[in-house]
Amino acid sequence: MAVSELEVVDRPQGDDHPPRGAASTLLHRLVDPFARGELPPPVPPVGFYTDTTVCIGCKACEVACKQWNQLPADDFRWTGNSYDNTETLSASSWRHVKFVEQFDGSLPLQPDDGGATARPLSIGDLTGGGPAHASRWLMMSDVCKHCVAAPCQHACPTGAILYNEYANVYIQPDICNGCAYCIAACPFGVITRSTIDGLAHKCTLCYDRQRDGLVPACAKACPTASIQFGPIDELRERARKRVAELQGVGVAGAYVYGDEPTEHYSALNSFYLLVDRPAVYGLPASPVNPWLFMVGDYARTALAGLLTLAAFLAAVLLAGP
Ligand code: SF4
Ligand code: SF4
Ligand code: SF4
Repeated sequence: MAVSELEVVDRPQGDDHPPRGAASTLLHRLVDPFARGELPPPVPPVGFYTDTTVCIGCKACEVACKQWNQLPADDFRWTGNSYDNTETLSASSWRHVKFVEQFDGSLPLQPDDGGATARPLSIGDLTGGGPAHASRWLMMSDVCKHCVAAPCQHACPTGAILYNEYANVYIQPDICNGCAYCIAACPFGVITRSTIDGLAHKCTLCYDRQRDGLVPACAKACPTASIQFGPIDELRERARKRVAELQGVGVAGAYVYGDEPTEHYSALNSFYLLVDRPAVYGLPASPVNPWLFMVGDYARTALAGLLTLAAFLAAVLLAGP
């Protein structure tokens, strides 16, 4: 792990409320509600690098997330979608492991070469042992991407969504009013509204655990280190080395998704090593920040307002006394 985990008992214990006299206590009670707290010291941005090639689909990450965050089970039903019965991310499932079955025997080795080098791809390609059989499962543990410029944060009218000191995108449930603007803005379909409290919820990147020096629960539980947590620069370097390693053993289609900004989207602080097209994993090939295309909407709205005002004034003036 890039960030070593501290045992809680080893951490220095601060005293939140040093003893004060009666007058000082009264003064603090009057002033404290209006006082701004001290900014936390700056730390390097942290996030996730998820190496999908070593995910075994055990769903320990999903369970650990539910357990740590005390999220309710969604349902117990047989979806018929591979062996994945938790289906999707939601307000009560902040992690979801996708099972992508590829058993059609026509898997292209190079996803974006127009099929020029298409040939059946097997699990043998991933291990460097050559094609053993023309089928495979792709497993990917999906989560909020903690976008560097997050459209959900831009869209939130109440300021409930913020970037915390770790550069993670965090929803403050006590400020969210459940308007769902963030849901429409997210190009990854991450956020939904809870059927229990009507508010938007998603992965917090275990802010509470990070504050206590602990690794996020999902990364801690992953037995194969598919989910790696740490400073973004370090993770990016690690992902690139892994891509080179995979390509060196013949997995030509390995690449990192989301580690760099594109023309219409920022970099992601939770990025993925993939071996097939993004769409195969249910990810947009070119995510778009709706914010970039809203200047025209604002201009049209302002123009419509001005025209309405002009028409109103004209009607009043022409009507006379
Ligand atoms: S993935 Fe969606 S919910 Fe997560 S930070 Fe980005 S826009 Fe927001
Ligand atoms: S970081 Fe925490 S909240 Fe986010 S998916 Fe992992 S366990 Fe859940
Ligand atoms: S815990 Fe790790 S190996 Fe298991 S499903 Fe999650 S990411 Fe995959």
